[in-house]
Amino acid sequence: MKQAKIQADDIKHAAQGKWSDLIFPSFGIEVQWKKKTPCPACGGRDRFWYDDKNGNGDYFCQQCGPGDGLSLIEKTCTRFTFPQVVSEVASILGLSDSSTITDEDRARWAKEREIRKKEQLERERKRQEQIARKAEGIFRNAYLGEESLYLKNKKVEKDPKIKITHDGNLLIPAVDLLDGKIWNLQTIEPDGTKYFIKGDTNETGEWETGGGRMGGLGFMIGEVQPDLYDDHNICVAEGYATGMSIHMATGYPVALSFVANNLPKVGNVLKQKYPNAQLVYCADDDSAKDDTGRKYAQMALDITGGIIVLPQFKQIQESIA
Ligand SMILES: [Zn+2]
Repeated sequence: MKQAKIQADDIKHAAQGKWSDLIFPSFGIEVQWKKKTPCPACGGRDRFWYDDKNGNGDYFCQQCGPGDGLSLIEKTCTRFTFPQVVSEVASILGLSDSSTITDEDRARWAKEREIRKKEQLERERKRQEQIARKAEGIFRNAYLGEESLYLKNKKVEKDPKIKITHDGNLLIPAVDLLDGKIWNLQTIEPDGTKYFIKGDTNETGEWETGGGRMGGLGFMIGEVQPDLYDDHNICVAEGYATGMSIHMATGYPVALSFVANNLPKVGNVLKQKYPNAQLVYCADDDSAKDDTGRKYAQMALDITGGIIVLPQFKQIQESIA
């Protein structure tokens, strides 16, 4: 073991900067730098974080803990003992010629990786369907109330397609704007607290948070007139209160993206469904913070064309669709 330890240290030096592009792929392992992904060893959805922080292929997995590149290979390719992993990596780096990895191994690993990926996508799809059923059920069966303090404080009307519950919460369906299917549900409490469908326990009893579909989902305040084949305006805003204020002031339909980073995706969907529409992005003014709203509105504009306006409808930029 002492021999292997010394060798492991030698390897770590030679392996710096080569983990993600050279060494891991040789074992059929794929990592993405600083992104939450499934764990190559134990799967999951977003439990794995690769940052290579010490240059040793370092990662953290919420399930199987932290480790370096050698330990990740040992955990993922269970055929190898640790000394064997060390010797294989040495041969990949040209430090020895004792490799026992065959093309068959590589082919098998690639296949296993494909299967893991497919299983992952399938789990994700099931989870989204599960959240969609939950959202649809909560919305359909809501015990209705009269008043939302949130709407009252914000001085905005209730769109006929949203609901107020008996405890004063607003329920806003997050739908696929192409076909109208409900995939998620935003709740806004009287004090303005907002959340989507929360986690649940899965079949093995683990607590899972979120997992519902979000990207590209929106909610349309007002109606886009189906017979409008000529130029017409559709506004796009993040939150309900802002969106409804715009609708009340202009009479235009307003698509909500719920969160800033969903603006480009919603814009894209609207452009598919209403190719003649001019999209008016009503960016939230977060200039006091980091300008997130404007940044994503600009990204959306680059994709779909249209106009960006800031609050008070001060026009800051125009581009031709
Ligand atoms: Zn893991």
